[in-house]
Amino acid sequence: MIDNESLKRSEILTNIAQDFFEYKQNYFEQRKKRKNEGFKKKLLNYFDATDTLWNDWHWQINHQINKTEQLNELFDISMEKQHEIQSVEKKYRWSVTPYYLSLITDFNEFDPIYLQVIPQILEMNSNWEEDPMNEINNNPAGAVTRRYPDRVTINLTNKCASFCRHCQRKRNIGEVDHCIDNSILKDSLDYLSKHPEIRDVLLTGGDPLTLSNQYIESVLKEIREIKSVEIVRIGSRTLVTLPQRIDQTLIKIFKKYGPIYINTQFNHPNEICNESILACNKLADNGVMLGNQSVFLKGVNNNYNTLALLNELLLKNRIRPYYIFHPKNVKGTNHFYISIEEGIDIYDKLRGNISGLAIPTYIFNSHGGYGKISLNKQMLELSTNKKIKIQTWEGKYIEIYLDAM
Ligand SMILES: *Cc1c(COP(=O)(O)O)cnc(C)c1O
Ligand code: SF4
Repeated sequence: MIDNESLKRSEILTNIAQDFFEYKQNYFEQRKKRKNEGFKKKLLNYFDATDTLWNDWHWQINHQINKTEQLNELFDISMEKQHEIQSVEKKYRWSVTPYYLSLITDFNEFDPIYLQVIPQILEMNSNWEEDPMNEINNNPAGAVTRRYPDRVTINLTNKCASFCRHCQRKRNIGEVDHCIDNSILKDSLDYLSKHPEIRDVLLTGGDPLTLSNQYIESVLKEIREIKSVEIVRIGSRTLVTLPQRIDQTLIKIFKKYGPIYINTQFNHPNEICNESILACNKLADNGVMLGNQSVFLKGVNNNYNTLALLNELLLKNRIRPYYIFHPKNVKGTNHFYISIEEGIDIYDKLRGNISGLAIPTYIFNSHGGYGKISLNKQMLELSTNKKIKIQTWEGKYIEIYLDAM
């Protein structure tokens, strides 16, 4: 006999599920209608290209869109908009793969893909710092950043497949592409050899997967020769902006030098489509562990349904939600900022409502390079005047503002 209380409870839970359930149905219906083919066809025509070229990552990189004339030819944008973009690009360059551009559904500031790659004049009205995380003072050797006892990052290049407008390393993006010198790479690897307590190495950039297979293989080979290094992670947004990058040779390299963990950055459900899923599947099928590190971004994912769906879709496609970062006060990114209060309100609703496996940890990256701190609801309750002191992993207190920067 099933008791009445259980049935009542079940009905309550079904009711709670309803809102998000309907949102999803509606989302997928809309998506089916657009099919996302529109802009891809347009771009193929524009470049007079074939599907085969489209699927070649070198073609995608060589046909990055980075001129207002091109946007105008493709989307017929106003003179005013062109002038705006031209004034921003003098300070922060922009560039986007045809693939990622094709994910835009409406070419305007309300589209989550547009927001992430098309410059906005708002980037220029910013008095924030270039490097609030103080990466420069955490650089003991070569291209190494060390903030923790057992792990480091090595910054291999400042190249990216598309430049994100919200990038926390915007200061590095405004220059020309460069890959680190061999001597800097050597200094970085020597540092690892001399510090056997370091067992986890995170290759970052820019985006290390913009580098050639040959180069990636040589770096992995050298790292694997250092026996104290147990874990190799790669931070790459190519799964999102250039999924064609995951070619057979790269997969073979990862198999040979594995286990490899790749952390990527999906920020919106629209980014999870056939092409990106295919790339993720190839990696997961070959033993690469996939994680996701989103950034909480105003206009992109600062609402509950979007965030919940994003993380459900990631999990379903074998990409484990790992972190969601609170946006930093990096110069030129003010327009993406949300308050910690807003972030916690949205984030906290995930717990209980969706699978625990689909919930990333909400992270505040502390000023001064003291590392990551996880944010939670209790912080709202413990605050006074919207201010709260929180502890770094070392027990150092820092003060954060919950309502504004
Ligand atoms: C984020 C980060 C890491 C990795 O931290 P996890 O919490 O282990 O993912 C390592 N080094 C630096 C400098 C970092 O910023
Ligand atoms: S891929 Fe990463 S490093 Fe490159 S622009 Fe985007 S956020 Fe910045």
